[in-house]
Amino acid sequence: MYRDSRYNKFFRENDSIFLFNSFSRACIKVKRTELKRIKSILNEKNPCIGENKNYQDILIKNGFILSDNINELERIEYLYNANYFRTDEINVVLVPTFKCNFKCPYCFEAGYEKEDDEVKDYFDILRNFANENFCNRKRVHISLFGGEPLLKKNELFSYLDYVSMQSKNYGYDLSINIVTNGFLLDKDTVSALFKYNCISLQVTLDGNKEVHNKLRILHNNRVTFDIIVNNFKAAIQYGIKTHTNTHFILRVNLLNQNIDHIRPILESFNLEERGKINIIFRPIYTTSHFGEANSNTIFDLKKFYDEAKNYGFNIVKSTYYLQHCESAGGVNFFYVTPDLKIWKCLNDISTETANIGQINKAGMLQFNITHISKWYQKSNPFKDEKCRDCYYLPICYGGCTRYYAKTGVRKCTSKDMSITPYFYS
Ligand code: SF4
Ligand code: SF4
Repeated sequence: MYRDSRYNKFFRENDSIFLFNSFSRACIKVKRTELKRIKSILNEKNPCIGENKNYQDILIKNGFILSDNINELERIEYLYNANYFRTDEINVVLVPTFKCNFKCPYCFEAGYEKEDDEVKDYFDILRNFANENFCNRKRVHISLFGGEPLLKKNELFSYLDYVSMQSKNYGYDLSINIVTNGFLLDKDTVSALFKYNCISLQVTLDGNKEVHNKLRILHNNRVTFDIIVNNFKAAIQYGIKTHTNTHFILRVNLLNQNIDHIRPILESFNLEERGKINIIFRPIYTTSHFGEANSNTIFDLKKFYDEAKNYGFNIVKSTYYLQHCESAGGVNFFYVTPDLKIWKCLNDISTETANIGQINKAGMLQFNITHISKWYQKSNPFKDEKCRDCYYLPICYGGCTRYYAKTGVRKCTSKDMSITPYFYS
């Protein structure tokens, strides 16, 4: 016997109707003329016959219809905890420096740059850390983040050479990703990154050339738009030539931008390049360093995605499963800052519980169990009745942990941020 999933919902977007399941994340465009039939199949308890059987099979396969003995909430809670406490994988985000060659006015890290905090033998200690913590894993994922991580590229690549050799000796899978401003992303750098199984490479533009060149400038005021675009294009071309499986992510930050402003960015890339780019739009938020009013909000992203899709770009969908964000990603996810402290989230280091310990000179993890436990309690949405009852639970998982830890209030996800990208095939 069957029943429909509690995580089904119909969305109407302009002239289209979509059926989206927030747990399986399957999205089906439904013809107006078929809507009644689909609704009736969703409510059908017995196996269908004839043409309806094909529809029912597709709906079962995509998680819209389930066996009626499955408790979806219990199942998600179990999977959430199993994912949180898994130990076969480790994902460390290396932040070898908070320094950056750019001086973006809104950057949350603007107050962090204290050279004194950088441990001189950071990478030597991380070699010890790899010896202590990587060899018994199935999979090790290293994210490169900053500041600007490529300011430390020589040290980083030498470290990754070491880990790469170790992965072969001990038989674990190694992958990396990088979030860079793109200015130092020359050909040698790209080729080095690809050597370590780079699964994603992300650069950011701040709107069109004019706005970008006002905001994302070097410390000597040199503008950067053309260099970033050309470096990114060259990286994609190199990826095409070498058949890399790297996802190229272009984040476009919006500050008082309309579609006409954005079009020249989209046109900077040829058709082949567009097909390789996964694009994401985000409004620039006000920070303690940046108080400028912004007419762009999370509620007007769809028109930018529509335009990008028309131009042949792919739209970035959430890469997080069973967690709200990377910081809610279990006990074996953390940032390692230049002082070798370890953190669940770096977006506001005044959130005390986000600092879950440190790495000592011998490369051993020294956890602050109280903070780890508090972070887990704040991340976990299953004790919260509002979240348990919520359609968005399997995509939101209780929202931003840092916000909840700070305010005691859950920050709910919006359809526009979390679901709209799934409306594009
Ligand atoms: S600020 Fe919130 S949403 Fe962002 S990484 Fe930290 S916990 Fe996650
Ligand atoms: S934080 Fe809000 S949107 Fe997210 S799961 Fe909880 S109730 Fe739902």
